[in-house]
Amino acid sequence: MIAREAFSGNSISVKIIINSKKSYLDEHCSRCGSEKRVARKWKEEIATLTGTTVLKHTQIVCMNEECQMEADELLLKEAQKRQDAKMKKQANDELRKVNILLAASKIRKNAPEINS
Ligand SMILES: [Zn+2]
Repeated sequence: MIAREAFSGNSISVKIIINSKKSYLDEHCSRCGSEKRVARKWKEEIATLTGTTVLKHTQIVCMNEECQMEADELLLKEAQKRQDAKMKKQANDELRKVNILLAASKIRKNAPEINS
């Protein structure tokens, strides 16, 4: 399936946690109205303080290939956006740190002049 190939290369996966009895297959695609099917089901075990918690994941894809491809592109773009935002935040944090240090050193430099 196209979706899986697209994701595996970028280590991005669509994870939907099923926490209700609602079947996703009864739902039609909100974008094109086509049938949807389960592409993949997997379990994930997460270690916790009290043992392990099992998360069940289901990847749903639209039967309309064109629609699914568009959806994949959107997901990849969103993932990219999130990554960009993360990088920007890191850069901003660094900048802020530098500015604080600069401001602090200015105060230190100015201090003797004020006193003299
Ligand atoms: Zn669709």
